[in-house]
Amino acid sequence: MLRTSVNKLFKTGIIQLSRRQYAAAAAIPDPITKPDIQCDKIFINNEFVDAKSGKRFPTLNPATEEVICEIAEADKADVDIAVEAANEAFRLGSPWRTMDASERGRLLNRLADLMERDRTLLASLETLDNGKPYNIAYAVDVPFSIKTLRYFAGWTDKIQGKTIPIDGDFFCYTRHEPVGVCGQIIPWNFPLLMQAWKLGPSLAAGNCVVMKLAEQTPLSGLHIASLIKEAGFPPGVVNILSGYGPTAGAAIAEHPDVDKVAFTGSTEVGKLIQQAAGRTNLKNVTLELGGKSPHIILSDVDIEEAVETSHFALFFNMGQCCTAGSRTFVEESIYDKFVEAATERAKKRTVGNPFDPKIEQGPQVDKDQFTKILGMIESGRQEGAKMNCGGGKAHDRGYFIQPTVFSDVQDNMRLAREEIFGPVQQILKFKGLDEAIERGNNSIYGLAAGVMTKDLDKAMYLSQGLRAGTVWVNTYDVFPQQSAFGGFKQSGIGRENGEYAFNSYIEPKTVIIKVPQKNS
Ligand code: NAD
Ligand code: MG
Repeated sequence: MLRTSVNKLFKTGIIQLSRRQYAAAAAIPDPITKPDIQCDKIFINNEFVDAKSGKRFPTLNPATEEVICEIAEADKADVDIAVEAANEAFRLGSPWRTMDASERGRLLNRLADLMERDRTLLASLETLDNGKPYNIAYAVDVPFSIKTLRYFAGWTDKIQGKTIPIDGDFFCYTRHEPVGVCGQIIPWNFPLLMQAWKLGPSLAAGNCVVMKLAEQTPLSGLHIASLIKEAGFPPGVVNILSGYGPTAGAAIAEHPDVDKVAFTGSTEVGKLIQQAAGRTNLKNVTLELGGKSPHIILSDVDIEEAVETSHFALFFNMGQCCTAGSRTFVEESIYDKFVEAATERAKKRTVGNPFDPKIEQGPQVDKDQFTKILGMIESGRQEGAKMNCGGGKAHDRGYFIQPTVFSDVQDNMRLAREEIFGPVQQILKFKGLDEAIERGNNSIYGLAAGVMTKDLDKAMYLSQGLRAGTVWVNTYDVFPQQSAFGGFKQSGIGRENGEYAFNSYIEPKTVIIKVPQKNS
C-alpha cells in the first residue's frame, strides 16, 4: 500500500534524495503493536544488568498517555561502572584496540544488517515511544540510521595521517588516533537517528562509548544494545544507559575518565555540559543544540510549492526538529496570498493515531512539551500575532496539538525568538534581500536556513549572507550522512555527519623521528 504521508515527504523534502527508498516505502509492512524487548535493564559490558539503585521509571505512549513499560533508571553509580568498562575496552592491547580497522567496519555493517532485519520492530518501537507516524519511522528514521552506520563503516580503514616535510633532519608523520571514551547524550525527537549519528563516527574511529538515551524514548536504543552484542562488538565498547539528564547525564558530563562528550538537545543543557567539562577534566565537547531557523520565500516562487515546502519545514516530526523552519519570511508582494494558502494547508493536516497510514501528525512527545507549546501559543495571542488556525489541543486523549499558523508575527515576539518545538508556524513579512538576511540572522541561534527562489543570483546572495550551519535552497530538511550538519552561534559546537563528524572523534598524534644524515 502506498502511504500518503510518505508520498508528501517525497515531493517536498526529506526523502527526495533516494528514489529507491521511496519504492521500498510503498510496501510498508504492518507494525508490531506489542513488541517484546528487553527494556528494564541497562547495557554494560555486553550484558543487560539492573540499575544499582533498583529504581525504575515508566515510558509512555504519547498517543494514549498509557505506560508502555518500566525502564531501569541509571544513576551516577551505573555511569561509573559503564565508564570503567569502556576504559577497560579501550586499554592498549584489548580486543578492540588490536582489531584490524577493516574489522571495525565489518562490525558496523553487521549492526546495520541486523537493523535491516529488525526494521519493522525498530519502526514500531519508535512510533510507540515517541509518537511519530509509523510510515515515517519505517521509511525515514530506520533506513537513514542504517545508512549512517554503513557510511561510517566505510571510513574505518581509510583513516590516514600525513607525512609532513618539517624543517631539520627529521621524519614527521601524524597518526589519527581515537579520542578515547566518549560520553554521548541523545534527545528524544529522532531517537534511532541521533543514536546512529553518534555511534557511527565514534566507533568507526575506534573509540569506546557510554551513551545515555533520552528518558522519554529509551525503547529503540535499548533494542540496538542487544543488536550490538549480537553483531559481535567486544564487551565494554558500547554501553547504553537509560536514565534522567540531571542524574545520569550530568554524571557523564562530569566524569574525569570520559575523554569527550557529544550532546544533542537544548542550548540550556548544552551550556551545562560545557561548564561541567570546564570544571572537571576539560573533556572535548561537541554540541548540537537548538535553532530558530529562517525560511525565506521570495516573490518569484511557485506559491503552491513554497507553501508545501515551508509547511513541511515546520510541521515535519510534529515540529520537533532542531532545524524547524520556524520563521517563515515571505516577501511583501506575495505575503497575503501565501498566508492564506499556508493556513489552508495547515487546516488540511491530518492529526491522530500515528499507526494510521493516513495520518501526517502524531502527538507531541510528552506532557512537558505539550504544555510548553500551548504556553507559547498563548504568548503569541497575548503579544498580538494573528492566529489564522489551530491554537489548541486536538483529541481528548494523548498529547496532540492542532496545526497552528500565526501571521503578522514581529521579530521581538517570543514566537519569533524562542524555540517552540511544536506544530506552530510563524509567518513574517519582509522587503528586499538585505532585510531578509539581517532579520534572518537576528537570533541567538544559527543552525539552519532555507531559501526559495527561481533566481540563482538571489539564492547565492542569501546563502552567503545567512549565518547558519546548513542552508537549503528550494528544499528543506535534507540530511545526507555524507555532508556536515551543525550550528553557528548558540546552535552548537562541531558537526555531525560526514568527514567533519569523523574528525571530531580523532586525536592527531605527531611523531617526529631523527634521521641520521650520514651512514655511521
Ligand atoms: P534536554 O536538553 O533537557 O534533553 C536532551 C538530553 O539531555 C536528554 O537525554 C536529557 O536526559 C539530557 N539532559 C538533560 N539535562 C541534563 C543535564 N543537566 N546534564 C546532562 N544531560 C542532561 O531537552 P528536553 O528537556 O527534552 O527538551 C527541551 C527543549 O530542548 C525542547 O523544547 C527543544 O526546544 C530542545 N530540544 C532540542 C533538540 C535538538 O535536536 N537540538 C532535541 C530535544 C530538545
Ligand atoms: Mg515514551
